Amino acid sequence: MSRWWPATASTWWTRTAGRSYIDCASGTFNLSLGYRHPAVVRAVQDQAEQLIHLTSGFQTGLVNQLAARLVELAPAGLTRAHLKVSGGSTANEGAVKMAQRATGRWEVVTLFRGHHGQTMAMTGLSGNAFRRAVLPPGAGAGLKVPDPYCLRCFYGQDRATCGLMCVDRIGDFLEFASSGSVAAVLIEPVSGNGGNIVPPEGYFARLRELCDAHGLMLIVDEVQTGIGRTGRMFAAEHFDLRPDAMTLGKGLGGSGAPVAAILASDALAGLPAADHAFTHGANLLSAAAALATLEVVADPVFLANVRATGSHILARLRQAQAVYRCVGDVRGLGLMIGVEIVTDRGAPDPGLASQLAAQAMGVGLVLRTSRYGRGNVVKIRPPLILTVGEADLICDRFEALLAARR
Ligand code: PMP
Repeated sequence: MSRWWPATASTWWTRTAGRSYIDCASGTFNLSLGYRHPAVVRAVQDQAEQLIHLTSGFQTGLVNQLAARLVELAPAGLTRAHLKVSGGSTANEGAVKMAQRATGRWEVVTLFRGHHGQTMAMTGLSGNAFRRAVLPPGAGAGLKVPDPYCLRCFYGQDRATCGLMCVDRIGDFLEFASSGSVAAVLIEPVSGNGGNIVPPEGYFARLRELCDAHGLMLIVDEVQTGIGRTGRMFAAEHFDLRPDAMTLGKGLGGSGAPVAAILASDALAGLPAADHAFTHGANLLSAAAALATLEVVADPVFLANVRATGSHILARLRQAQAVYRCVGDVRGLGLMIGVEIVTDRGAPDPGLASQLAAQAMGVGLVLRTSRYGRGNVVKIRPPLILTVGEADLICDRFEALLAARR
C-alpha cells in the first residue's frame, strides 16, 4: 500500500517512493480544501480535546452554530438545516422524505445521468441502469427524464430553436409515464458523475415554473457542486435558482471530515428530525470541520480564486482542443470541469477516456472519468486551494498525456 502525507494544505499527495501526484479528483471530490488544511485540522484537534460526539437527540452549540451559518449562506427561502444525516445519500433521502410528507405524494423525477448516492433508494433514483440491474422490483422506481445535455440533445434539437423542450416534455412524462403521485424533482445543478453537464441558460427558471405548475418540490443535490466548487458558495447562485431544498456533503468537510446537511424551506418542515436521524449525524468533529471550512470558503477572495483558476484551466483546455482531435467539448463552472474525449468522428470515446485516466498516474495526475469509468468525460476537480501555477501543471501534464498517444 502506498502512503501519502502532504505537509500542509495541499493539492497533492505523495507516495512513499517520493513521487507526487496532483489530485484532480480531490479525494472523492470531498477534499475541497486539499489534504490537511490547517484551519480544519486545528478545529478538529481543538474539538477532539473537548468532546467528539453527543447523540444528536441533544442540542449542541456547535451544531446549532453550523445550522445557523448554513441557513445564513443559503439561497433565500431555505430557512432550516437538518444535520443528522450520515452523508450525501442520506441527505438526499431525507429531502425526498420531506417532500413526500409535505405533498402527500411519493414519486421523484430525476435525470438520466443524475447521480444521488448509493443507498438502495438513491441507487434507484440515479441514472446508470447497470447499477439498478440487481435491485428488487420497485427499488428502482422513479421517473427518469432526459438531461439538459445540449451537445447530445436527446430530442435532437438545437439550443437556439429548441424552446427548452427538455423541460417542457417533463409535463408529458408526468401525464403519461408517472405514477400520478409525483412529489419532487431531484437534480444536480451540474452533473457530478454524469458528465459535467452544465444546463443552458433559462433551464432552471423554466424547471422552477414547471415544478410550481405541478406542485412539485424542487430539490437540488449540491453534494458535489456545493461549498465553493463552482466558484460560488452554491451552484444554485449561478442560475438564480430558488430550490425548496438543497443537500450538501463532500466539500463541506473541507479536508475529509464526514459531514452532510439538508437545507429546506418552511414548506418542507414537517418531517420529525428523529424520523431521519443517523448515529454519525451531527457529529461534533465534523461540525467543527464544517464551520472552519465555511469560514475559509465564504471569503470572496477565496471564491474569486476558484473562478480564476477554473477559467484558466478552461482556456488552456480549449487551446488543447484545437490541437488534439480527441478533445471534444470542454465545459464547466469554477473548478468543476469536464473534458469530452471523442473519436475522430466526434462520438463519445469512453475507452480512450479510461485509458487516459489510467495513464495519468504516469505523468503525476490523478484523473477520474464520468459514470464510474464508463463515460467519456474526464473530470478535472482539484482542491479549491489550487494556485495558477498548479492549474498550469495540470494542463501541462494532461497535454503531455495527449501528446504521448499521437
Ligand atoms: N449526490 C452526489 C451529486 C454525489 O456525487 C454523491 C457521491 N458521489 C452523493 C450524492 C452521495 O454522497 P455520499 O457518498 O456521501 O452518500
